[in-house]
Formats: sequence, structure tokens, C-alpha cells
Amino acid sequence: MIIKEITDYLETFFPLTDAYDWDHCGLQVGSIHEEVKNIMIALTPDAKVMQECIDHHVDLLITHHPLLFDPLYCVNTEEEISKIIQMALTHHITIYSYHTCMDRAPHLSMNKWLMEAIQIEEYQDYGEDGLIKTAKVDTTLRQLIKKIKQDLKLPALRFVGHIDQPVKKIAVIGGSGADFIDELSNQVDVLITGDIKYHEAQNALSKGLCLIDVGHFAERIMVPQVRMLLEEKFAVTIYESQQEDYIQFG
Ligand SMILES: [Zn+2]
Repeated sequence: MIIKEITDYLETFFPLTDAYDWDHCGLQVGSIHEEVKNIMIALTPDAKVMQECIDHHVDLLITHHPLLFDPLYCVNTEEEISKIIQMALTHHITIYSYHTCMDRAPHLSMNKWLMEAIQIEEYQDYGEDGLIKTAKVDTTLRQLIKKIKQDLKLPALRFVGHIDQPVKKIAVIGGSGADFIDELSNQVDVLITGDIKYHEAQNALSKGLCLIDVGHFAERIMVPQVRMLLEEKFAVTIYESQQEDYIQFG
């Protein structure tokens, strides 16, 4: 089988045309016209994941986060990104990423998976964009935090707001959703996202919006989801990367 058959199929769920203009989805390294027998799925392409791919004779690495996001002006193999490119080319591993195509996809998407992971079955699209999901709930910030830690298997998380504040409506944006703080502050009580900076927290607090920061690693949820999609359709060997969160809690 050719890699393109796999990526064409996945693009029926996550069309590359859904990517934001600033994003760089799709082929990162290699060729989609190579043969594929073994596939690895990971959240982020890093050197450790590449070593996992080499160990398992992987032909195609599918990731959420792109490898090549910022322009690369020099391939210096002493640096991580270049080293990954070298490992990929040396071992004939094609790297392909879905990122915001997966975030904004019309049917299956990151934020749907996150909603379902925290056991919320009734949720809506916020606006036309397809990215943000909102849901009505009846809980408190304390209960919601406890539930999210359990359901997403997070050892700890950061939050902004009063712990006993009642929560009637939530929004979910996997990854970095701080750009939506102003817009969502009048719409929901809690924004569940990642990557919150100090002054973004201050802004949210001043507007009465609670934040729950689940980090980027919560997006690892895409790994078993993509695996299921591929297993239903193709007779290939699929590995899930054993990658761990870069951020640890001490
Ligand atoms: Zn992310």
C-alpha cells in the first residue's frame, strides 16, 4: 500500500483545507508515494518518537503537531528539528501532521474528542469556525477540575478563578486557546484549554472567566482515535507512541 491511500482517507475526516492560514499541516518530511506497512501515531514529532519509529521499522509517522512550523534556514543536525529530519530521511520515514485540520474538522475533531473524554455528550459548535465546542453543565469549578483530572488522567492542572464558583457553561479548545478569552468571557463560565500565560490569566480573571489549563498533552487523545479510524479501514500495523508529557509536576 502507498502512504497516499492512508493520508487521502484521513483527509476525508481532516481536510487540509480546514487548516488555519498560519498553520503548516500535511506532509512534513518524506514522500507520500512510498510503500507503507508500519504506522506510528504520536502527538508531537520529537527525536524520541523518531527512535520509536526506527525501532518498529515505521514507514509513516502521523502526528498532531507539525514538525516544521517555523521556517528552517539551516539544517544543523546538532539541533532537534534538523536531527529529526535526518532520522526520517535516513530511515525512510514520512512524517505527516494534521494539527488545525484536526482541530476544526467538521465531524470528528480534537475538541469533540476532548468533550467526550470528559463525558459530555451534548455539546454545540460555537460560531461558524468549527473549532470551539461549548456545553451546558451544572457543576462547580472544584468538581469540574476533579472530573477533568480523572477523565484526562492528569496528575495536576492549573486553573484560574474561584474554586467554588458555580459553572453552567463551558468551552473547550485543545492546545493554545487564550486568543479566545475576550470573546468567550461573555459566553461561558469556564474555558478549558492549554498554554495559559500569566497575563492571559489576569485578563480572564478580570473579565470573570475561569480557565482550566490542561496543557497540550491532553491532545494525545488523538492517538487512539486515529488508530481506530485506520484499523477499521486498512490492514496495516499501527503503533501508538509511548511519548510522555514534556511538562512534569514536582
Ligand atoms: Zn497542541
